[in-house]
Amino acid sequence: MSIPLRQVPVAKPVLDEREVEAVRRVILSGWVTQGPEVAAFEKEFASMVGAPHACAVSNCTTALHLALMAVGVGPGDEVITASHSFIATANAIRYCGAVPVFVDVEAGGFNIDPALIEPAISPRTKAILCVHQLGMPCDLSKIVEIGKRHGIPVIEDAACAIGSEILWNGTWEKIGKPHGDIACFSFHPRKVVTTGDGGMLTTRNPEYDAKFRLWRQHSMSVTDAVRHGSRDVIFETYPEVGFNYRMTDLQAAVGREQLKRLPEIVARRRQLAEAYSRHLSGTAGLIAPLEPHWGRSNWQSYCVGLPHWSDQRATMQALLDAGVSTRRGVMNIHLEGAYAQSGSFRAGSSLQRSIDAQFGSLILPLFTQMTDDDLSRVADSLIAVVVDEQPRQAQVG
Ligand SMILES: *Cc1c(COP(=O)(O)O)cnc(C)c1O
Repeated sequence: MSIPLRQVPVAKPVLDEREVEAVRRVILSGWVTQGPEVAAFEKEFASMVGAPHACAVSNCTTALHLALMAVGVGPGDEVITASHSFIATANAIRYCGAVPVFVDVEAGGFNIDPALIEPAISPRTKAILCVHQLGMPCDLSKIVEIGKRHGIPVIEDAACAIGSEILWNGTWEKIGKPHGDIACFSFHPRKVVTTGDGGMLTTRNPEYDAKFRLWRQHSMSVTDAVRHGSRDVIFETYPEVGFNYRMTDLQAAVGREQLKRLPEIVARRRQLAEAYSRHLSGTAGLIAPLEPHWGRSNWQSYCVGLPHWSDQRATMQALLDAGVSTRRGVMNIHLEGAYAQSGSFRAGSSLQRSIDAQFGSLILPLFTQMTDDDLSRVADSLIAVVVDEQPRQAQVG
Protein backbone atom coordinates (compact mmCIF):
# COMPACT_ATOMS: atom_id res chain seq x y z
CA MET A 1 0.00 0.00 0.00
CA SER A 2 2.85 2.33 0.78
CA ILE A 3 5.45 3.30 -1.78
CA PRO A 4 8.40 0.92 -1.41
CA LEU A 5 11.35 2.88 -0.03
CA ARG A 6 14.79 2.67 -1.50
CA GLN A 7 17.01 0.54 0.75
CA VAL A 8 19.79 2.58 2.35
CA PRO A 9 22.97 0.44 2.31
CA VAL A 10 25.60 0.61 5.06
CA ALA A 11 28.43 1.58 2.71
CA LYS A 12 29.10 2.23 -0.94
CA PRO A 13 32.42 2.82 -2.69
CA VAL A 14 32.90 5.98 -4.78
CA LEU A 15 33.88 4.74 -8.25
CA ASP A 16 33.15 6.06 -11.74
CA GLU A 17 34.54 6.61 -15.23
CA ARG A 18 37.77 8.04 -13.81
CA GLU A 19 38.72 4.68 -12.34
CA VAL A 20 37.56 2.89 -15.51
CA GLU A 21 39.81 5.16 -17.59
CA ALA A 22 42.76 4.55 -15.26
CA VAL A 23 42.44 0.78 -15.57
CA ARG A 24 42.02 1.02 -19.34
CA ARG A 25 45.27 2.98 -19.55
CA VAL A 26 47.13 0.28 -17.59
CA ILE A 27 45.70 -2.62 -19.58
CA LEU A 28 46.68 -1.02 -22.86
CA SER A 29 50.17 -0.24 -21.52
CA GLY A 30 50.93 -3.97 -21.26
CA TRP A 31 52.54 -3.69 -17.78
CA VAL A 32 49.96 -4.88 -15.26
CA THR A 33 51.74 -5.67 -11.98
CA GLN A 34 54.56 -4.22 -9.82
CA GLY A 35 55.21 -1.59 -12.45
CA PRO A 36 55.08 2.20 -12.78
CA GLU A 37 51.53 2.58 -11.42
CA VAL A 38 52.41 0.79 -8.17
CA ALA A 39 55.52 2.96 -7.80
CA ALA A 40 53.53 6.15 -8.45
CA PHE A 41 50.76 5.12 -6.06
CA GLU A 42 53.32 4.47 -3.32
CA LYS A 43 54.91 7.85 -3.86
CA GLU A 44 51.60 9.70 -3.83
CA PHE A 45 50.39 7.81 -0.77
CA ALA A 46 53.63 8.55 1.12
CA SER A 47 53.31 12.22 0.33
CA MET A 48 49.64 12.29 1.37
CA VAL A 49 50.36 10.89 4.87
CA GLY A 50 53.78 12.52 5.19
CA ALA A 51 55.70 9.22 5.39
CA PRO A 52 59.26 8.72 4.12
CA HIS A 53 58.38 5.24 2.75
CA ALA A 54 55.21 3.55 1.51
CA CYS A 55 55.06 -0.02 0.16
CA ALA A 56 51.95 -1.35 -1.59
CA VAL A 57 50.77 -4.91 -0.92
CA SER A 58 47.82 -7.16 -1.69
CA ASN A 59 45.69 -6.17 1.33
CA CYS A 60 45.96 -4.93 4.91
CA THR A 61 46.12 -8.42 6.39
CA THR A 62 49.31 -9.14 4.46
CA ALA A 63 50.58 -5.66 5.42
CA LEU A 64 50.09 -6.52 9.10
CA HIS A 65 51.87 -9.84 8.61
CA LEU A 66 54.92 -8.17 7.03
CA ALA A 67 54.94 -5.39 9.65
CA LEU A 68 55.00 -7.92 12.50
CA MET A 69 57.74 -9.94 10.77
CA ALA A 70 59.82 -6.80 10.18
CA VAL A 71 59.91 -5.94 13.89
CA GLY A 72 60.94 -9.53 14.62
CA VAL A 73 57.74 -11.15 15.88
CA GLY A 74 58.16 -14.94 15.76
CA PRO A 75 56.97 -18.21 17.32
CA GLY A 76 56.24 -17.97 21.04
CA ASP A 77 56.31 -14.17 21.14
CA GLU A 78 53.42 -12.06 22.40
CA VAL A 79 51.80 -9.04 20.75
CA ILE A 80 49.49 -6.76 22.73
CA THR A 81 46.39 -5.77 20.78
CA ALA A 82 42.61 -5.30 20.96
CA SER A 83 40.13 -8.17 20.74
CA HIS A 84 37.52 -5.59 19.73
CA SER A 85 38.65 -5.50 16.09
CA PHE A 86 38.29 -7.25 12.76
CA ILE A 87 39.70 -10.78 13.00
CA ALA A 88 42.57 -9.96 10.61
CA THR A 89 44.28 -7.90 13.35
CA ALA A 90 44.92 -10.96 15.50
CA ASN A 91 45.20 -13.48 12.67
CA ALA A 92 48.29 -11.65 11.40
CA ILE A 93 49.90 -12.21 14.82
CA ARG A 94 49.11 -15.91 14.61
CA TYR A 95 50.58 -16.15 11.08
CA CYS A 96 53.90 -15.33 12.84
CA GLY A 97 53.35 -18.16 15.33
CA ALA A 98 52.92 -15.54 18.05
CA VAL A 99 50.18 -15.14 20.66
CA PRO A 100 47.82 -12.14 20.71
CA VAL A 101 47.41 -10.62 24.16
CA PHE A 102 44.04 -8.90 24.22
CA VAL A 103 43.34 -5.86 26.35
CA ASP A 104 40.07 -3.99 26.72
CA VAL A 105 38.83 -0.83 25.02
CA GLU A 106 38.43 2.53 26.75
CA ALA A 107 35.21 3.35 28.56
CA GLY A 108 32.82 4.96 26.08
CA GLY A 109 34.93 4.22 22.99
CA PHE A 110 36.05 1.48 20.62
CA ASN A 111 39.83 1.93 20.85
CA ILE A 112 42.37 0.15 23.03
CA ASP A 113 42.72 1.58 26.56
CA PRO A 114 46.38 2.67 26.87
CA ALA A 115 46.21 2.27 30.67
CA LEU A 116 45.82 -1.51 30.21
CA ILE A 117 48.83 -1.98 27.94
CA GLU A 118 51.63 -1.66 30.47
CA PRO A 119 50.22 -4.24 32.93
CA ALA A 120 49.90 -6.71 30.02
CA ILE A 121 53.57 -6.49 29.02
CA SER A 122 55.56 -9.68 29.66
CA PRO A 123 59.17 -10.69 28.87
CA ARG A 124 57.81 -12.19 25.62
CA THR A 125 56.10 -8.99 24.39
CA LYS A 126 57.58 -8.19 20.96
CA ALA A 127 55.16 -5.55 19.67
CA ILE A 128 52.09 -3.45 20.41
CA LEU A 129 49.54 -3.61 17.58
CA CYS A 130 47.07 -0.79 18.15
CA VAL A 131 44.00 -0.21 15.96
CA HIS A 132 42.43 3.06 14.78
CA GLN A 133 39.04 1.44 15.01
CA LEU A 134 36.39 2.59 12.51
CA GLY A 135 38.74 5.41 11.49
CA MET A 136 38.91 6.99 14.97
CA PRO A 137 42.54 7.60 16.00
CA CYS A 138 43.59 5.66 19.09
CA ASP A 139 45.61 7.41 21.80
CA LEU A 140 48.95 7.14 19.98
CA SER A 141 50.86 9.64 22.10
CA LYS A 142 50.33 7.46 25.21
CA ILE A 143 50.87 4.19 23.33
CA VAL A 144 54.06 5.34 21.61
CA GLU A 145 55.37 6.60 24.96
CA ILE A 146 54.77 3.17 26.55
CA GLY A 147 56.47 1.48 23.58
CA LYS A 148 59.50 3.77 23.88
CA ARG A 149 59.78 3.25 27.65
CA HIS A 150 59.87 -0.55 27.21
CA GLY A 151 61.72 -0.71 23.89
CA ILE A 152 58.70 -2.34 22.22
CA PRO A 153 57.82 -1.36 18.62
CA VAL A 154 54.36 0.03 17.91
CA ILE A 155 52.48 -1.05 14.77
CA GLU A 156 49.31 0.80 13.80
CA ASP A 157 46.44 -1.14 12.25
CA ALA A 158 45.21 1.84 10.24
CA ALA A 159 43.06 -0.33 7.94
CA CYS A 160 40.11 2.03 8.40
CA ALA A 161 42.01 5.29 9.02
CA ILE A 162 43.03 6.71 5.63
CA GLY A 163 42.54 10.47 5.96
CA SER A 164 42.12 10.45 9.75
CA GLU A 165 44.21 12.96 11.69
CA ILE A 166 45.93 13.31 15.03
CA LEU A 167 47.19 16.36 16.89
CA TRP A 168 50.93 15.75 17.31
CA ASN A 169 53.13 18.28 19.11
CA GLY A 170 50.58 20.96 18.33
CA THR A 171 50.17 20.13 14.61
CA TRP A 172 47.43 18.15 12.87
CA GLU A 173 49.06 15.22 11.08
CA LYS A 174 47.66 12.38 8.99
CA ILE A 175 47.52 8.90 10.47
CA GLY A 176 50.29 6.92 8.76
CA LYS A 177 53.20 9.34 9.05
CA PRO A 178 53.57 6.97 10.96
CA HIS A 179 53.58 7.93 14.63
CA GLY A 180 54.39 4.40 15.69
CA ASP A 181 57.02 2.37 13.80
CA ILE A 182 54.83 1.07 10.98
CA ALA A 183 51.26 1.78 9.85
CA CYS A 184 49.14 -0.62 7.75
CA PHE A 185 46.23 0.49 5.54
CA SER A 186 43.44 -1.31 3.67
CA PHE A 187 41.82 -0.53 0.32
CA HIS A 188 38.97 -3.02 0.71
CA PRO A 189 35.64 -1.59 -0.59
CA ARG A 190 34.32 -1.37 2.99
CA LYS A 191 37.03 1.21 3.76
CA VAL A 192 37.06 4.89 2.77
CA VAL A 193 38.87 4.49 -0.56
CA THR A 194 39.27 1.24 -2.48
CA THR A 195 41.33 -0.62 -5.05
CA GLY A 196 39.05 -3.70 -4.88
CA ASP A 197 41.53 -5.26 -2.50
CA GLY A 198 44.83 -3.71 -1.54
CA GLY A 199 47.07 -2.57 1.28
CA MET A 200 49.87 -0.16 2.13
CA LEU A 201 52.68 -0.10 4.69
CA THR A 202 54.23 3.19 5.77
CA THR A 203 57.36 3.66 7.86
CA ARG A 204 60.28 5.99 8.55
CA ASN A 205 62.67 3.03 8.70
CA PRO A 206 64.36 2.26 5.34
CA GLU A 207 65.36 -1.23 6.54
CA TYR A 208 61.75 -2.14 7.25
CA ASP A 209 60.73 -0.78 3.87
CA ALA A 210 63.42 -2.87 2.13
CA LYS A 211 62.13 -6.00 3.93
CA PHE A 212 58.54 -5.32 2.85
CA ARG A 213 59.65 -5.00 -0.77
CA LEU A 214 61.65 -8.20 -0.61
CA TRP A 215 59.04 -10.30 1.17
CA ARG A 216 56.04 -9.17 -0.90
CA GLN A 217 57.77 -10.60 -3.98
CA HIS A 218 58.98 -14.08 -2.81
CA SER A 219 62.20 -12.44 -1.47
CA MET A 220 63.40 -12.21 -5.05
CA SER A 221 66.74 -10.37 -5.03
CA VAL A 222 66.04 -8.31 -8.18
CA THR A 223 62.76 -6.64 -9.06
CA ASP A 224 61.05 -7.20 -12.41
CA ALA A 225 61.52 -3.54 -13.26
CA VAL A 226 65.29 -3.73 -12.71
CA ARG A 227 65.65 -6.95 -14.70
CA HIS A 228 63.51 -5.59 -17.50
CA GLY A 229 65.52 -2.39 -17.72
CA SER A 230 68.97 -4.04 -17.52
CA ARG A 231 71.27 -4.36 -20.51
CA ASP A 232 73.15 -7.18 -18.80
CA VAL A 233 71.84 -10.64 -18.05
CA ILE A 234 70.80 -10.85 -14.39
CA PHE A 235 70.09 -14.05 -12.45
CA GLU A 236 67.88 -13.42 -9.45
CA THR A 237 68.24 -15.27 -6.13
CA TYR A 238 65.83 -16.14 -3.32
CA PRO A 239 67.78 -15.84 -0.07
CA GLU A 240 64.80 -16.45 2.23
CA VAL A 241 61.16 -17.56 2.17
CA GLY A 242 58.92 -14.73 1.00
CA PHE A 243 55.33 -14.37 -0.14
CA ASN A 244 53.23 -13.30 -3.07
CA TYR A 245 51.76 -10.19 -1.44
CA ARG A 246 51.93 -8.03 -4.55
CA MET A 247 49.57 -5.27 -5.63
CA THR A 248 48.81 -5.08 -9.35
CA ASP A 249 49.16 -1.95 -11.47
CA LEU A 250 45.44 -2.20 -12.24
CA GLN A 251 44.72 -1.76 -8.54
CA ALA A 252 47.34 0.95 -8.09
CA ALA A 253 45.89 2.98 -10.98
CA VAL A 254 42.48 2.86 -9.29
CA GLY A 255 44.12 3.80 -6.00
CA ARG A 256 45.71 6.89 -7.52
CA GLU A 257 42.30 8.13 -8.68
CA GLN A 258 40.85 7.34 -5.27
CA LEU A 259 43.56 9.34 -3.49
CA LYS A 260 42.66 12.40 -5.56
CA ARG A 261 39.09 12.09 -4.27
CA LEU A 262 40.09 11.48 -0.66
CA PRO A 263 39.82 15.08 0.68
CA GLU A 264 36.35 15.43 -0.82
CA ILE A 265 35.27 12.01 0.48
CA VAL A 266 36.50 12.69 4.02
CA ALA A 267 34.93 16.18 4.07
CA ARG A 268 31.53 14.75 3.12
CA ARG A 269 31.84 11.91 5.65
CA ARG A 270 32.59 14.45 8.38
CA GLN A 271 29.50 16.45 7.42
CA LEU A 272 27.35 13.34 7.57
CA ALA A 273 28.77 12.25 10.94
CA GLU A 274 28.13 15.70 12.38
CA ALA A 275 24.56 15.59 11.08
CA TYR A 276 24.02 12.18 12.72
CA SER A 277 25.33 13.44 16.03
CA ARG A 278 23.04 16.49 15.83
CA HIS A 279 20.02 14.28 15.11
CA LEU A 280 20.79 11.62 17.68
CA SER A 281 22.37 13.41 20.63
CA GLY A 282 20.27 13.44 23.72
CA THR A 283 17.65 11.25 22.09
CA ALA A 284 16.17 8.17 23.67
CA GLY A 285 19.33 6.88 25.34
CA LEU A 286 21.37 6.74 22.12
CA ILE A 287 25.08 7.47 22.52
CA ALA A 288 26.77 9.27 19.60
CA PRO A 289 30.48 8.53 19.04
CA LEU A 290 32.83 11.29 20.18
CA GLU A 291 36.15 12.48 18.80
CA PRO A 292 38.86 13.19 21.37
CA HIS A 293 40.17 16.78 21.25
CA TRP A 294 43.42 15.43 19.73
CA GLY A 295 41.87 13.24 17.01
CA ARG A 296 39.76 13.61 13.88
CA SER A 297 38.06 10.57 12.39
CA ASN A 298 37.52 9.96 8.68
CA TRP A 299 34.25 8.35 9.83
CA GLN A 300 34.91 5.07 8.04
CA SER A 301 31.98 3.94 10.20
CA TYR A 302 29.55 5.74 12.46
CA CYS A 303 28.87 3.46 15.42
CA VAL A 304 26.16 4.50 17.86
CA GLY A 305 25.65 3.10 21.37
CA LEU A 306 22.17 1.67 21.94
CA PRO A 307 20.05 2.34 25.02
CA HIS A 308 20.37 -0.41 27.65
CA TRP A 309 16.79 -1.57 26.99
CA SER A 310 17.37 -2.17 23.26
CA ASP A 311 17.80 -5.63 21.79
CA GLN A 312 20.48 -5.31 19.12
CA ARG A 313 19.12 -7.92 16.71
CA ALA A 314 15.50 -6.73 17.04
CA THR A 315 16.59 -3.14 16.48
CA MET A 316 18.54 -4.11 13.36
CA GLN A 317 15.58 -6.11 12.04
CA ALA A 318 13.14 -3.24 12.64
CA LEU A 319 15.49 -0.90 10.79
CA LEU A 320 15.91 -3.37 7.93
CA ASP A 321 12.12 -3.57 7.67
CA ALA A 322 12.14 0.23 7.42
CA GLY A 323 14.63 0.03 4.54
CA VAL A 324 17.77 0.81 6.53
CA SER A 325 20.76 -1.58 6.55
CA THR A 326 22.94 -1.58 9.65
CA ARG A 327 25.72 -3.73 11.08
CA ARG A 328 26.31 -4.74 14.68
CA GLY A 329 29.19 -3.17 16.56
CA VAL A 330 32.76 -4.31 15.91
CA MET A 331 33.33 -8.01 16.68
CA ASN A 332 35.44 -9.44 19.48
CA ILE A 333 38.09 -11.75 18.13
CA HIS A 334 38.39 -13.84 21.30
CA LEU A 335 34.73 -14.89 21.03
CA GLU A 336 35.19 -16.54 17.62
CA GLY A 337 35.75 -20.26 17.05
CA ALA A 338 39.18 -19.60 15.56
CA TYR A 339 40.26 -18.46 19.04
CA ALA A 340 38.45 -21.15 21.04
CA GLN A 341 41.51 -23.39 21.39
CA SER A 342 43.42 -22.83 24.61
CA GLY A 343 46.69 -21.00 24.04
CA SER A 344 45.45 -19.21 20.91
CA PHE A 345 45.38 -15.94 22.87
CA ARG A 346 46.02 -14.52 26.32
CA ALA A 347 43.63 -12.10 28.05
CA GLY A 348 45.74 -9.19 29.25
CA SER A 349 42.80 -7.60 31.06
CA SER A 350 39.07 -7.98 31.53
CA LEU A 351 37.40 -7.70 28.10
CA GLN A 352 33.98 -6.72 29.41
CA ARG A 353 33.86 -3.27 27.80
CA SER A 354 34.77 -4.86 24.44
CA ILE A 355 31.92 -7.34 24.78
CA ASP A 356 29.45 -4.63 25.83
CA ALA A 357 30.54 -2.57 22.81
CA GLN A 358 29.96 -5.46 20.38
CA PHE A 359 26.47 -6.23 21.61
CA GLY A 360 25.39 -2.72 22.59
CA SER A 361 26.13 -0.71 19.46
CA LEU A 362 25.12 -0.37 15.81
CA ILE A 363 26.95 0.81 12.72
CA LEU A 364 24.71 3.15 10.72
CA PRO A 365 24.82 3.77 6.95
CA LEU A 366 27.45 6.36 6.02
CA PHE A 367 28.71 6.84 2.48
CA THR A 368 29.73 9.81 0.41
CA GLN A 369 26.77 9.67 -2.00
CA MET A 370 24.26 9.60 0.86
CA THR A 371 21.85 12.55 0.76
CA ASP A 372 20.78 14.64 3.74
CA ASP A 373 17.32 13.11 3.29
CA ASP A 374 18.78 9.58 3.47
CA LEU A 375 20.50 10.54 6.70
CA SER A 376 17.36 12.03 8.25
CA ARG A 377 15.46 8.89 7.31
CA VAL A 378 18.03 6.65 9.01
CA ALA A 379 18.18 8.82 12.13
CA ASP A 380 14.39 9.16 12.39
CA SER A 381 13.90 5.42 11.88
CA LEU A 382 16.44 4.60 14.59
CA ILE A 383 14.87 7.02 17.05
CA ALA A 384 11.39 5.64 16.31
CA VAL A 385 12.58 2.05 16.84
CA VAL A 386 14.35 2.64 20.15
CA VAL A 387 11.52 4.81 21.50
CA ASP A 388 9.11 2.03 20.59
CA GLU A 389 11.29 -0.51 22.43
CA GLN A 390 11.54 1.67 25.51
CA PRO A 391 9.97 0.09 28.62
CA ARG A 392 6.71 1.79 29.60
CA GLN A 393 7.90 2.99 33.03
CA ALA A 394 10.93 4.62 31.41
CA GLN A 395 8.65 6.40 28.95
CA VAL A 396 6.50 7.70 31.80
CA GLY A 397 9.49 8.55 34.00
C1 LIG B 1 39.48 -4.34 7.18
C2 LIG B 1 40.40 -4.49 8.30
C3 LIG B 1 41.55 -5.27 8.20
C4 LIG B 1 41.86 -6.15 7.01
O1 LIG B 1 42.00 -5.45 5.83
P1 LIG B 1 42.06 -6.27 4.44
O2 LIG B 1 42.57 -5.26 3.47
O3 LIG B 1 40.68 -6.73 4.15
O4 LIG B 1 43.00 -7.40 4.63
C5 LIG B 1 42.42 -5.30 9.28
N1 LIG B 1 42.16 -4.60 10.40
C6 LIG B 1 41.05 -3.85 10.54
C7 LIG B 1 40.84 -3.09 11.80
C8 LIG B 1 40.12 -3.78 9.50
O5 LIG B 1 39.01 -3.06 9.66
